[in-house]
Amino acid sequence: MVTVGLRITCIIVLLVELVGCASESIKPVRLYVFHCGTIDVKDVSVFHPGIGKGEHKILTDSCYLIVHPKGSLMWDTGISDELAKLPEGKTMYEVFTFRMTQPLAVQFQEIGVSPASVQFLGISHLHSDHVGNANLFPQAQLLIQKEEYAAGFGPEPAKFGFDPSSYPTLKNNPVKQLEGDYDVFGDGKVVIKRMLGHTPGHQALFVKLAKSGNILLSGDMVHFTDNWVHKYVPGFNFDKQQSLKTMQAAEKFLTDNNARLWIQHDLEQNNTLKHVPEYYE
Ligand SMILES: [Zn+2]
Repeated sequence: MVTVGLRITCIIVLLVELVGCASESIKPVRLYVFHCGTIDVKDVSVFHPGIGKGEHKILTDSCYLIVHPKGSLMWDTGISDELAKLPEGKTMYEVFTFRMTQPLAVQFQEIGVSPASVQFLGISHLHSDHVGNANLFPQAQLLIQKEEYAAGFGPEPAKFGFDPSSYPTLKNNPVKQLEGDYDVFGDGKVVIKRMLGHTPGHQALFVKLAKSGNILLSGDMVHFTDNWVHKYVPGFNFDKQQSLKTMQAAEKFLTDNNARLWIQHDLEQNNTLKHVPEYYE
């Protein structure tokens, strides 16, 4: 009787483990949207030379956490939380004023996730409005195109609009330098897309969600809807021709994959999205 009882117990334990495994494997991918600052643009014509000279525009800055059953990925890290101490903001390159009102670290507390538990850090590019809080993820593996890494950590970062003092800890992160698209968890649900032009190794992020559908997070492949519609290339982009080619390829990619484009700096579009503590699945 003792042996039979033991066997039944073993079978029950096995079943519980199997059910646990099954529910684990069907956990949907989750996408959180964070407020990561605002950018006050004094002269919008920097985004489309010759058009809108002297016109003012406010952009948002957004960043994202993707939680996959096999791990998690932070996508961009916004403007530095340190700027929350400067209500008047910080003016950069005379045209842009960066402001931070909702520190990223506080938003992480709201969703009960520790930045230290995030395994991967995907950075669309190294401009300071995308790496401001990279220091919250010192243990995460940095996923970056090799050209971006070479430019950001090479002899002349300023030539590409990079300021290494805005990413002082990034050099110490474990890193995987990419030479193309990269399927982060191996199931096609979270894929880094090589989309060059804005900077030497710019990239975007494709996410497949079970209920909310397919989404492409733009990085700075484009900054706002009007530029996307007209395929305008900002005057400060690294490679104008490549930027245009990338936008055309992205448009085809969106059609082929039945995906929507979330433009990371587009204030009006971003205002229509759910932000933390809510999420998309
Ligand atoms: Zn940006």
